[in-house]
Amino acid sequence: MKKLIGAALICAMTASLISGCTPSEVITAEPSETAKWKSGRAQDDFYYYANKETLDNAEFEYGSGYAADAFDETPVIERLDTIIKDVVAGSGYEKGSEEYLIQTAYNSFIAYDFENEPVPEELQKVIDEVKNAKDIDELMMTDAKLYRDFGIEGFFILTVDANPFLPEQNALAIMPCTDVLGVSFDSIADDNTALNTIATDTRTYLQTLGYDIDTASEYGKQLANIALEICSSSDGKYSRDAYENDDIVILYLSDCDDIFTNVDIEKYFMTIGFDRQACEIFGAYNKEQLICINSLLVEENLNALKAWEIGKIYSEYMRFIAPSYYTFLSGYVSDNYKTPEEQALNEIKSTLTAETDPLYVERYYSKEIDDGLRSMCDDIRESYRTLISDATWLSEPTRNGLLEKLDNIVYVTGINLTRHDNSKYADIGGNYFEFYLEYRKVGQKDFIASLAQPVDRYAILMPMQTVNACYAPVRNTITITVAISGDSYFDVNGDYYVNLGNLGATIAHEMGHAFDSNCIVYDKDGVYNPDWIADEDKEALLARNEKAVRYFEDNFTVFGIYHVDGEMTLGENFADLSGMECLVRIPQTDEDLKKMFESYAHSYCRMSVDIYIVDQIAGDVHSPEVIRVNAILSTVDVFYDVYDVKEGDGMYIAPENRISRWH
Ligand SMILES: [Zn+2]
Repeated sequence: MKKLIGAALICAMTASLISGCTPSEVITAEPSETAKWKSGRAQDDFYYYANKETLDNAEFEYGSGYAADAFDETPVIERLDTIIKDVVAGSGYEKGSEEYLIQTAYNSFIAYDFENEPVPEELQKVIDEVKNAKDIDELMMTDAKLYRDFGIEGFFILTVDANPFLPEQNALAIMPCTDVLGVSFDSIADDNTALNTIATDTRTYLQTLGYDIDTASEYGKQLANIALEICSSSDGKYSRDAYENDDIVILYLSDCDDIFTNVDIEKYFMTIGFDRQACEIFGAYNKEQLICINSLLVEENLNALKAWEIGKIYSEYMRFIAPSYYTFLSGYVSDNYKTPEEQALNEIKSTLTAETDPLYVERYYSKEIDDGLRSMCDDIRESYRTLISDATWLSEPTRNGLLEKLDNIVYVTGINLTRHDNSKYADIGGNYFEFYLEYRKVGQKDFIASLAQPVDRYAILMPMQTVNACYAPVRNTITITVAISGDSYFDVNGDYYVNLGNLGATIAHEMGHAFDSNCIVYDKDGVYNPDWIADEDKEALLARNEKAVRYFEDNFTVFGIYHVDGEMTLGENFADLSGMECLVRIPQTDEDLKKMFESYAHSYCRMSVDIYIVDQIAGDVHSPEVIRVNAILSTVDVFYDVYDVKEGDGMYIAPENRISRWH
C-alpha cells in the first residue's frame, strides 16, 4: 500500500491478481511432507484440492508466464473493443461528448502519418524554449508550462489529493523524486552504471537538436551527476513505498524561502495555475531532497538541467518526435506490425479510458447488479460489526472508534460514475497530435483546479473497466469496479455463497484494510492520527503483528526454500485474514461454507512460471496465491470443523500457533 497524499489508494487486488505461484511446489509444513500435498485431499492442500482439475489440465501458451488463470481480463477487453467499434460506426454525437471524442480520436489517429509527420509545431516551440532559456528562472517557467500544458512532470513532482490531516480538503504535495528519465534511484543505488543510461539517452536527444557529440556527452554526464546527487540526498528512500505520512513536512508558501533559495516557488505554482490560497500550506515528503534539488537549480547546471527537461519531453512525446530524427532515435520506437485499426483501438483503450468508462458502465452495469452488490457489501459490514464488537481484547473506546470507522465506509461503484461536461471538449479537433495534446491539457487543467475544490468522497478512484477494487484510507471508501462486479467474480443471479467466496472475499479484504496494521492509524474520519488508538491497544495489536509475521515466515515457503517476507506482506495478510474471519460468520451450513471456501480458492487459481513466483516472494506485498488460500484457511477454526482437519494433515497448524485478527 502507499500512504502518500498523492497515492492514497490502497493496493487492492491488482498485485494479488497479477501475481501467482506454482501450487504443487508450495509447502505449508515440513518439507519432508511434500508428498501429502499431492494427495488431492482438502485437508492437505485446499488450494490444489479446489483447483485440481483446472491445474492438472493447465497448459502454458507459448510466451505466457501464466496458465489456468482465474484472473482473466479478456472479456473486458473484448467488450471495450465492441464499444469503440460501435461508437466509431455511429454518427450524430454531440460535440465534446464521450462518443464524439472516441470517434474523433480514432479517425484522426488512423489518418496521422506517424512515420513521416515532422515534429509538431507546438512541441518544437517548447523544445526551443527549453533550449534557449537564458537562466534558471526562464527554465523554471517553461518547466511549469510543460506541467500545465503537456502533462510533463516538473523538477518538483507535484500532486493533488485528499489531505491526510484534513480529509475533506485537497492538498498540494511535492512528491519524492525517485528516478531521473526513468532510471530509478533503486537501480542507481544498486549499481552506479545505471547512470550511463541517463548520460547516453541525453546525449542522443541533444544530438538531434544539433549539439556536437562532445558537448552532448558532457551535458549528459553532468545530468547523470545531478541524478546521483539527488539519489544520495534521498536518505535511502528510493521508492515511494518507503515513505510514510510521518515523513510529510508542512510548508507555508509565504514562508519557505529558506528551502527555495534558487527558485521563486510561488511564481512557479502560480504559473502552473494553482489557487494561491489553496496552496498556501503544502506538503513535502523529503525535505532534504528538496533542499538538494534547489541547490542544483543554479546557472552552472543550466545546460544539464535543459538536457533533463528535453529528456522528459522526448520520453513523453517520443512517437511524435522520433520520425524526424530516425537515425538517432530509431531505437526508442518499436516497429508496429498491427493494422492501423488495431493500433487505433489500443490507443483509445490506453488514452481515452475516461471516455470509454461511462459507456462501459452504461452497457454492462445495472441497478439490479448494484443492488445485489451493495446488499452483499452490507452483509459483510454487518459481520465485521459483530467481529469488532466481540473483540474484547481491545479497549471499549478503540472498539467504538473502529465501529464508527466501519459505519463510515462508503462503497463507490459504477453508479457513482457520471459523464463529463461536453463543453470542456467542444473545441477539440485537428490532427491526432493536436487532439492528443488538447485532451491532455483539459485533463491537467481539471486536476490543477481540483486543488481548490473539496474532496468528493464518491469520486471514482480507478477505471470501472479495470478488474480491481481498492480501499482509500483518507477517504475511507471502497471502490468496486464494474469489471470486477461481473464475469466469474460476481453473478447477481448466481449462488450467493459462490459470490461471497469470490468478489465477497475481495470486498471483505478491502474492508479489512481499514483495520490492518497500516491503515488503522487513520481514524474514523480518515484523519491520519496514530494516537487515536490507546497505548494498551497499540501494544496488543503489535503483539498480534509479531505473531502473524512468525506464522507466515515459519510455516510457509515456496519451493521449500523461499520464505514469505512476513513484514512486507503483513498488511495484505491481515486484510486476507480479517476478510476470511468476517466471511465465515455469514454462511449457516457446512454446505454453504464449502461453496464459499471453494469459490475463494477458485478465485486465486493460477499457475505461473517459477521465476514469477520468486520475483513475487521478493517484491510483492501480497503472498503467493496458494499461501493466500492455504495459510489463511489453516488458521481459521471453522475450516477445521467443516473439513475435519486433524493433526498430521497438511493444512493442520497446532492451535497454539494459529493466529487471528479479531478473536
Ligand atoms: Zn490488499
